[in-house]
Amino acid sequence: MTTETCILEPGQIEAPAGQIRPLFLAEGDLFRLRAERLRFLAKGHSLGDYLDFLSLLADAQQEALNHFSVPPLPGPNEQALCREHGMPLLSARSMPLNPLWRKGLAMILRQMGEDDLPVAARETVTSLMQRDETGLEEMAGRILAEELDDISPAELPFVAAALQVYFVRMASALGEGAFSQLEQGGICPVCGSHPVAGIVRSGGAEQGLRYLCCSLCASQWHMVRIKCTACESTRGVSLYTLEGSNGAVRAESCDDCNSYLKLLYLEKDGRMEAMADDLATLALDMLMDREGKSRGGPNLFFHPG
Ligand SMILES: [Zn+2]
Ligand SMILES: [Zn+2]
Repeated sequence: MTTETCILEPGQIEAPAGQIRPLFLAEGDLFRLRAERLRFLAKGHSLGDYLDFLSLLADAQQEALNHFSVPPLPGPNEQALCREHGMPLLSARSMPLNPLWRKGLAMILRQMGEDDLPVAARETVTSLMQRDETGLEEMAGRILAEELDDISPAELPFVAAALQVYFVRMASALGEGAFSQLEQGGICPVCGSHPVAGIVRSGGAEQGLRYLCCSLCASQWHMVRIKCTACESTRGVSLYTLEGSNGAVRAESCDDCNSYLKLLYLEKDGRMEAMADDLATLALDMLMDREGKSRGGPNLFFHPG
């Protein structure tokens, strides 16, 4: 592993505030692109089978998203209140879930049931199809609170996949204009979740800017690079890369709170996708763990438990 210390001065690489687009919501074909990326990354990868399985899951998510009805949305009063208090409008932790999310789960499970899955995954699909409402709601509540420790690693991806579809659908129905910037820059302004990774954009007005990618709703929001995403310290970060990698993915660790987030440099590889490339660089997480660093946000498709 190689490390370097990097201290950025305010304004060094950032355009003046106000000129920066604060938010990109997930595109309508997000899951199709993710599936493609996962399939590509799976080739010759030590986690190839799992990445292939997740590509089928992402295909099922796309199919579910394409046919998903829009859940009831917060009205103008609620929108104004959230704006006034700087709260995420679709708060994953506090907004009651509409039962529609379970329809999304049923769609995903049905489609996965038709795929050629490994035996264990097929058994999980069957058992989730028979699970009662209470059990599913309880699991969803924990995932949305990012309390993943007690969730079965086999069931987590399916339920998380359904919740992602539900939140992406709501966010896109509201549109970017409904969301305001939060004082706390490290959480998603749409749903309040932590980021799965950050990306450094390449090309256009956002060249070189850091956006954080939501682990739940896949929104991307701008956050200045001088701040730690977890504790907002501006004292500096250490960058870690895997030996022999092309440097397209680096872990940025805060010297103050010891948390880290991966940064994907799209300039080095424009095809990267936050969730997929985060999973494909699990080796970097293992090294960071050995260094005593902890992740600044979850990946809902893999939790070491
Ligand atoms: Zn979000
Ligand atoms: Zn920090």
